[in-house]
Amino acid sequence: MPQRGRKNTVFQWLAGLVKNPYLTAVREGLTLALPLIIAGTLAILINTFPLPAYQEYMTGLFGPEWKLFGDYIHNGTFGVISVIMALNIGHSLAEDHNVKHPLNRVTPSIVATVTFSSLMCTMEPLAGGAFAMRWLSVHGLLLSIVISLLACSIFRFLLRFPVLRVAFYSGSTGASMSQAISAMIPAILTVLLFAGCKAAAKAYGLENPNESIYRMLSLPFQAMGSNHIETAVVYEFVRNALWFLGIHGSNVLEPVMQELYIPGMQANAAAYLAGLPPTVIFTKPFFDCYTSIGGAGSTLGLLIAILLRHRDNGAKNISRISILPSIFNINEILLFGLPVVLNPVFIVPFILVPVLASVISYFACLWGLVPLAIHDVAWNIPVFIDGYLATDSPRGSLLQLFNLVVAIAVYLPFVILDNRLKAQQFNENFKKLADAAVDGGPTDIGPRLLSIPGLIGGMAHNLAADLKMALKRNELYMEFQPQVDSDTGRVYGVESLMRWQHPHIGRIPPSVFIGLAEDTGHIVALGLWGIEESVRLMRVWRDAGLRDVSVAVNVSARQLEDASFPDKVMGILNKHRVPVDCLKLEVTESIALTSHMAENRVLARLHALNIRLAIDDFGMGHSSLTYLKKFPVATLKLDAILTRDVLASRSSCEIILSIAELCRSLNIDLLAEYVEDEAHLLKLRSLGCSNIQGYFYSPPLSAGEAFTFISGTHKAYGASPPPRGGAECGL
Ligand code: C2E
Ligand code: CA
Ligand code: CA
Repeated sequence: MPQRGRKNTVFQWLAGLVKNPYLTAVREGLTLALPLIIAGTLAILINTFPLPAYQEYMTGLFGPEWKLFGDYIHNGTFGVISVIMALNIGHSLAEDHNVKHPLNRVTPSIVATVTFSSLMCTMEPLAGGAFAMRWLSVHGLLLSIVISLLACSIFRFLLRFPVLRVAFYSGSTGASMSQAISAMIPAILTVLLFAGCKAAAKAYGLENPNESIYRMLSLPFQAMGSNHIETAVVYEFVRNALWFLGIHGSNVLEPVMQELYIPGMQANAAAYLAGLPPTVIFTKPFFDCYTSIGGAGSTLGLLIAILLRHRDNGAKNISRISILPSIFNINEILLFGLPVVLNPVFIVPFILVPVLASVISYFACLWGLVPLAIHDVAWNIPVFIDGYLATDSPRGSLLQLFNLVVAIAVYLPFVILDNRLKAQQFNENFKKLADAAVDGGPTDIGPRLLSIPGLIGGMAHNLAADLKMALKRNELYMEFQPQVDSDTGRVYGVESLMRWQHPHIGRIPPSVFIGLAEDTGHIVALGLWGIEESVRLMRVWRDAGLRDVSVAVNVSARQLEDASFPDKVMGILNKHRVPVDCLKLEVTESIALTSHMAENRVLARLHALNIRLAIDDFGMGHSSLTYLKKFPVATLKLDAILTRDVLASRSSCEIILSIAELCRSLNIDLLAEYVEDEAHLLKLRSLGCSNIQGYFYSPPLSAGEAFTFISGTHKAYGASPPPRGGAECGL
């Protein structure tokens, strides 16, 4: 038990760490850069595809400079990835801080990018004439991340002081100018602060801290000597820890490779040519073949573990896209897309797997189970082939297979942990989205759910995209909740309620997907489909002898803006030969009873066509009753708050009494929904409301269940013709 408690504490700690806004901003930043990373990866693959025939063919076709094409793409993507990261981190932090104004969301990106560029672009050219742009590429990634996070935090802090915000208004220049001027002083101060630090560093002789740190990292290896397992373990540890931080570990430790492991390779090759046995275990191909299967971190094992056990679609898709490049040991898509970089969940296996692989492979070579490498092989030759080519023996490939299985086994528990964390985060975000959907209610001021910033808004966008396909994929269906005359116990109508069974998430609450459909405008098509499904069912029921039941279908505000809506509804009724009084359209009070709705031509046309309306959630609105005077409605449905409060609140009772009075005088039906128990039912009846919908009688049912339920009440209370062919109803 205590162990489980500790496990849960670690899980919660990790969950908190994963949600940390700064780490989230880094992950989001990397994800936003993914299209560029994929393009850059393709360029690497095009240029380095390890087949001599391919290389010769390309040279023959395009000339000796054919690789320039790939280089251009690489320079434009990986070559400036650190600048892109600065932009993205600024953007993600603005999203996280819930910055509403679109212009304010851009400013942190600009501040982060300018700060980073001002520090990096002015670096002196490196020894050997290397271009200073180098720090804008993956080499500057960690610095870009750190500088951007710091710069954005300082900028945000400074923005809090009103004295630093310049008020500027000019009708002629528009909002951009005022926003830019208002953020000007905090932005300039942030850049100045960093530039000052750089100038101070230079004054103390620290011209290029990156370069110094990188140089220092490779120093200890020289003292350690090449043919020791300890050196190899430290090499793998440092190389992969750097990769984890977003630094190109293999490049940083290139001097170590050059001084220790390439000579080892050359010694083995020379011995082989001289007919002598090779003696050096740790060589360049040793690391390329055995400890970097699929790239740094031996991520082919991670990729397979994800495809085996991860349930998150995003992670699986990233892995699928990574399969081809990973075969050639190019794993940037996985490192930056999943991401692995700076992801606390994967730090342990990402470093442990290569270290373990170097130890296993060392003993395999030491005990003579696998011959030592005698040929140099290019780093991007696919796994198993390179093992064979380097050793001239299938045992080289077998050792790779063993190491790959170990990698999968080590990565698996972390993939399962990641899966749990992602599921937890998904549920938390989904709950926030559902709360937002219930909170707001329909508005006509533009999208509600789609404009939520950050991860929740992102989730809303993904769901909206899925919803567009839902009809075609048969994921939508209707349920029907009986409406009962409590005086007789007979069902006289049903409310049809739309349902969405998402293939991965399961059932999505209608408040969420209807809200999304309203945001995208898709509700117009979905709503018509719902009406057609409901009317079609009326036809089926009438054919089966169930004639005196009507169906009420919910209608959203957006549908009432479509001038052709009433005639389309009439067309559906005619198509299925269902009388107009079998259908009711439910419109919420907040939509229907506003003064401008009295002028709504769509509503006028619905009235002209005798299509009946029910006013939903009636009683708590602040609207005028102009509409009720102008167009009589068939039914008022009491707001659920009134129904729920009826036992506890005197004022609810009084409101219901007066609504009941209004209905009697205007000859309107009154219906109470959300009636869950007998006490509420009796109270509502005593207040003059005897039409009841709610769990007390029945929850929403499938078409077949609803048919059985209704037929039962009709049989029990008579007055309805006996149903015919009930078994096939509602199918
Ligand atoms: P609504 O029109 O007020 O629908 C009544 C809601 O109350 C339904 O929730 C129903 O399942 C629930 N309900 C009924 N009786 C009880 C009860 O006794 N206890 C409790 N706790 N709940 C009860 P549902 O199905 O989740 O629908 C939510 C809202 O989604 C609906 O509220 C409606 O505004 C919207 N909606 C559903 N289907 C459609 C549709 O086809 N078109 C449009 N435009 N909106 C729809
Ligand atoms: Ca309704
Ligand atoms: Ca309602």
